[in-house]
Amino acid sequence: KVRVRFAPSPTGGLHLGGVRTVLFNYLFARQHNGEFVLRIEDTDQTRYVPGAEEYIIECLRWCGLNPDEGPHVGGPYAPYRQSERKAQYRQYAEQLVKDGYAYYAFDTPEELEEMRNKLKTAENPSPQYNAAARQQMRNSISLSAEETASLLEKGTPHVIRIKMPQNEEVGFTDLIRGHVQFNTSTVDDKVLLKADGMPTYHLAVVVDDYLMKITHAFRGEEWLPSAPVHLLLWKYLGWEAQMPNWAHLPLILKPDGNGKLSKRDGDRLGFPVYAMNWTDPKSNELTKGFRELGFLPEAFVNMLAMIGWNDGSGQEIFTIEELIQRFSLERVHKAGAKFDFEKAKWFNHQYLLHADNDRLAALFEPVLQEKNISATPEFVAKIAGLVKERCNFVNDIWEHAFFFFQQPESYDIAAVKPKWNDDKTQFFRNWAAVVEDHAEFTAVSLEESFKTLAASMNIKPGELQLPFRIMLCGGKFGPPVFNIAEVLGKHETIARIVKGLD
Ligand code: GLU
Repeated sequence: KVRVRFAPSPTGGLHLGGVRTVLFNYLFARQHNGEFVLRIEDTDQTRYVPGAEEYIIECLRWCGLNPDEGPHVGGPYAPYRQSERKAQYRQYAEQLVKDGYAYYAFDTPEELEEMRNKLKTAENPSPQYNAAARQQMRNSISLSAEETASLLEKGTPHVIRIKMPQNEEVGFTDLIRGHVQFNTSTVDDKVLLKADGMPTYHLAVVVDDYLMKITHAFRGEEWLPSAPVHLLLWKYLGWEAQMPNWAHLPLILKPDGNGKLSKRDGDRLGFPVYAMNWTDPKSNELTKGFRELGFLPEAFVNMLAMIGWNDGSGQEIFTIEELIQRFSLERVHKAGAKFDFEKAKWFNHQYLLHADNDRLAALFEPVLQEKNISATPEFVAKIAGLVKERCNFVNDIWEHAFFFFQQPESYDIAAVKPKWNDDKTQFFRNWAAVVEDHAEFTAVSLEESFKTLAASMNIKPGELQLPFRIMLCGGKFGPPVFNIAEVLGKHETIARIVKGLD
């Protein structure tokens, strides 16, 4: 049975890359009738941010990528928060010590600092706790068994570190990159269990992937350098046969391809990098999200699927069902994929065009509320239908439709004045009366009556349409003028003609 997991640390907002990892997990699980687990990796208390877990769950809900198991829904492997699983990890760390794969280290922060300063050279600016340093430090390898036992007995603060072998080649087959090989000397003796008894990521991820029977682990490429540590832990704990298949997903790069897309790039380049607005509880700093910008979740998800993946056919618009069918890890690119915000907008535009107008009206409601405008959902839906082809985002509706909600304050007089005459004034007086008596109030029938009236007064209707538009909207913009009138309705259309004539 396929079991995958998304294992975020609750340290802040959810980045595009994180949502894409969720998506690939989700697609893979659904495709194989498997299970998708959400596990909160909150063992680093110093980086824990209140509210981040709820935020992550809300992001997944918004995207429609809901996990089958997780802290909010429970499941057979609960708890799904690592901090609540604390008691489980020590025994595995102790077992590793017993088997000679890990050791106790008693070094104080000052001693660590001293070691770094002592070993620092031009070639090695940040010396690591590795096989060379290990011998000079206070740990159960350099100390005698008696000394170690006595330190432990006295309750001396200590961590447990993995004893990285020297100059061994380890490797595995990544589902995206193929065979990946490492020399163990490139990795330091990572801490597995901290002085407070909490595991580090390295120990917790292996133990939990094992206990939760994870079969496939997808994570960002930034975790690839840690893979040898995890590989050895699976081996040392005797679980190698159950090790999940790993897929390290390529990074999402800045639009110019120059490095990983970061939270700051969004602020700098003027587009969001988070799924939803995130307010840091400490600084109160707001980082904007795709949801609040007016992305539809299906568009957001579709767009993310196409960053670093395609099905080879050239098709770009996929429903989630199609993605579940067509997704394949083999077609995920190895190289990082540049993020293209213009393309993201294009995706959203495609989905807006086909979105239900009532839904768009509901999504647009907060914008109206913020402006203290009340309008019926039916009215807003009609407007959304008229202007959505000009919008990339739901919120763009305002820019293309503000005049529906308020009468013009001023008019683009310059556009009509040169050709204005009394005949035209008379036309619009008559027109207001015709509108008043109009039974069928549709764009088509209004246009017909407009033309008939113009013909009877011997004026070219082409010369009258612009003034009519300016009376309704204030300027030379907006959808076809008779559609505007239809949506405004009889009462408002007459009011605007009268006001315009003034
Ligand atoms: N907790 C890690 C993170 O925050 C998860 C990495 C993994 O999936 O193994 O990205």
